[in-house]
Parts: sequence; C-alpha cells; structure tokens
Amino acid sequence: MSTGTTGSGPYYLGISTEVEVFEAAWRRGLPVMLKGPTGCGKTRLVESMAHRFGVPLYTVSCHEDMTAADLVGRFVLTGGDTEWVDGPLTRGVREGGICYLDEVVEARQDAIVVVHSLADHRRELTLERLGGQTLTAADGFQLVVSYNPGYQSVLKDLKTSTRQRMVGIELGFPPLDAERTIVAREARVGDPAADELVRFGTAVRRARDAGLREVASTRTLIAAAALMGEGLAFRDAVIAAVATPLTDDPEVREGLLELIDTYGVGG
Ligand code: ADP
Repeated sequence: MSTGTTGSGPYYLGISTEVEVFEAAWRRGLPVMLKGPTGCGKTRLVESMAHRFGVPLYTVSCHEDMTAADLVGRFVLTGGDTEWVDGPLTRGVREGGICYLDEVVEARQDAIVVVHSLADHRRELTLERLGGQTLTAADGFQLVVSYNPGYQSVLKDLKTSTRQRMVGIELGFPPLDAERTIVAREARVGDPAADELVRFGTAVRRARDAGLREVASTRTLIAAAALMGEGLAFRDAVIAAVATPLTDDPEVREGLLELIDTYGVGG
C-alpha cells in the first residue's frame, strides 16, 4: 500500500480526454475503471489525479489470495490484545482518499463485492467484523480500478454488476510524439534516443501478431532509454530492457532482434 504524493506531483501527460473524465467522475463521486495494457500509464494517471485533488492514495495490487479483509481491515493481535486495523479501502472511505485496486480481475469476486455499496449512490461501507458498523464515504473518496483487457479470460472477468457501477476510461500507448516526450523526460535522455526507441516500440506493437503476448510498453521503452542514458548502445539497451523481459521464445526474440537492427540508427 502506498500513500499520498507531495511536491509538484507525479508527471502525467494528458493524451486524450482521460484527465477531464477522471476529474468529472471524482467531483461526482463516481468510481473509475481504467483499462489498458500493462505499462501504458494507468497507475501514473491515478497518482497524478490524487495529487491534483490533494487527497491520499491507497494502492492495492490485487491477487488471487486477496480477501475482503485485506481491503476492509481486520483485528490483529498486539501483545495479548486484539486491535482493529483499517484496510486501505476503509482508510480511503474515512479520509476521503482514492482507493486504487490495481489489476482488479486478479482478485476473487467475493473479495470485490465489498466495494458494491461504495460504488453506487449509497457510498457506504459496512464493516461486518465491527458489528455491522456502516461508514459513509467522506467527500473526496473515490474508488478506482484498473485492469489489462489482454489478460482477461473467461475465468477472470469482472461481474457485470461491478462493471456497471464504474465510469470507464480506456488508455492505450501514447501516440508517437507524446511517447517521445514522456520517454525523454522520464529517462532524462535527449530527443534522438527517445525518438529511436519510440519508433522501435511502435514497430514492435505493429508486429504483435508475431507471437508476443505483451508488446513493448512505455515502461520498457523508458527503461531502455535510461540504459542509453548510462551510455549503452541502442541495441544493447533494447535487448536488456525490452527483448529479454518480453519473450523466452527464440523465434520471437529473433524477430525482435531484426526489428532492433532496422530501427537502431545509432547502432
Ligand atoms: P500501468 O499502471 O498502466 O502498468 P504505469 O502508470 O506504471 O503503467 O506507467 C509506466 C510508466 O510509463 C510510468 O512510470 C510513466 O513513467 C510512464 N507513462 C506512461 N504514460 C504516461 C503519461 N501519459 N504521462 C507520463 N508518464 C507516462
């Protein structure tokens, strides 16, 4: 779990209407569902919004073993006594912060249903283990969930009843110019290196059919740029930050190396 941000705030470059939609949803207390591939900026968007609204951010990375208690809270033993400890959802509800459930489809449905009463007009959370105490969400509370539609399977999907309670924002990888700006800024490298990487990334995304399950995300391009910033050649940086993490398949790797040689003008 991570809390609020300070200073000038996390950098987020708006791509389309996502910031506008997010702000409008927050003002009306509507939950937001962010969809998009891994490493495209979902988390960064939430971080920058929490900063902009001046509210704490509670992030939960969802997984199969997560229970409702991991969200809501539980009694813990402290030297002979039991003490109630709020979970991230409850803290967000009390304080009026954003509770961000990252990769929400990874969680089991029975863990997620606790958000339902918060995600509609009631904006209430019932703490069953505290004798059914009901909390009304403070102003500023917002539920945000993210997921990567590419990972979805029949077994892993959100219930329609959960989805219907959310405002959806679809994010993709940024267009070339925007991604160049992001990569250059985040990795603190010059435009030529960023440009080379972003063109390569775009080509990998086009070649997705070649067998890559995931494509080169903005995150991997930033990592490659950072390596270049440390003096590595384009080819070595891309092999280390993109090709090796993305695939174990020798043929796919070969295809990527060919693309690297096509796009690496700096060599
Ligand atoms: P996700 O949550 O979708 O997996 P992240 O939010 O962690 O992805 O994004 C990965 C990295 O890409 C971030 O650390 C950030 O540096 C960068 N990034 C992606 N999109 C943007 C954007 N629009 N503005 C600023 N940074 C971005």
